Amino acid sequence: MRDFTKSHEWLSINTATVKKQWSLDKIIDECAKRNIRAISPWRDQVAAVGIDKVAKQLRAHSMQLSGYCRGGFFPAVDAKGIGAAYDDNRRAIDEAKTLNAPCLVLVVGSLPGALQGKALYTDIQLARTQVYDGIQKALEYAVEIGIPLAIEPLHPMQAAERACVNTLEQALDICDALDPQRKGRLGVALDVYHTWWDPKLKQQIQRAGKDRLMAFHVCDWLTPTRDLLNDRGMMGDGVIEIRKIRGWVESAGYCQFSEVEIFSDQDWWDRPGEEVLDTCISRHCSSV
Ligand code: ZN
Repeated sequence: MRDFTKSHEWLSINTATVKKQWSLDKIIDECAKRNIRAISPWRDQVAAVGIDKVAKQLRAHSMQLSGYCRGGFFPAVDAKGIGAAYDDNRRAIDEAKTLNAPCLVLVVGSLPGALQGKALYTDIQLARTQVYDGIQKALEYAVEIGIPLAIEPLHPMQAAERACVNTLEQALDICDALDPQRKGRLGVALDVYHTWWDPKLKQQIQRAGKDRLMAFHVCDWLTPTRDLLNDRGMMGDGVIEIRKIRGWVESAGYCQFSEVEIFSDQDWWDRPGEEVLDTCISRHCSSV
């Protein structure tokens, strides 16, 4: 297992972590200043600065991506909606290519309309079928362009609004069905926040192996958790055995970046960005 205690060379910052403080161009500069070698940006942050400018800035700093956030949200109530989701995923794949991302992360979606406050249907099995079909179709285009897709299973508390793929096992079943030969086209983004509680986690990480493990996201689970989406903790402040899970992931062959992804509207988004990044670095050494 790699020793992270003395350097942060494998730290990546998911740019949502400081999105309330800074625009993406400032985030890239502040990360570069601290020798952070990788980021994972969100599409809206990229669009706000302009993708060509972002690509140029990344090249100037020799900064890599550890992923691109995000595609997905496949389910819809009608063919028009399904088609719009497909078109949007194609654009996300193109953007990932422009930014030289190692993968496009998929938050697959669930009951259409639920995220906006009113589910337009309630059949989660239908949503899962639409997700499967949506990934299959997006994958054809992704293979053509050369961008791997990484399914991110979300904690079941998000099953209505954001993702009906809720365990690593479920995500890997989709991978095995759509990419049976493990050609590196389809895999998973493993986020400790969403998966730490899963009794099959270690077993399914082994099943995933190097070909399927495409991203590793870290933060911590606070007790109590005050908000279902935006109360993620800094590594070391909660109950997740992050280093143990990283050990499992590395035993399975993963050797890429460890990406800090913290949504925190009652704590970290209120602090100066400099303090947040400096804390990410020190906690990455002590608690990841
Ligand atoms: Zn994540």
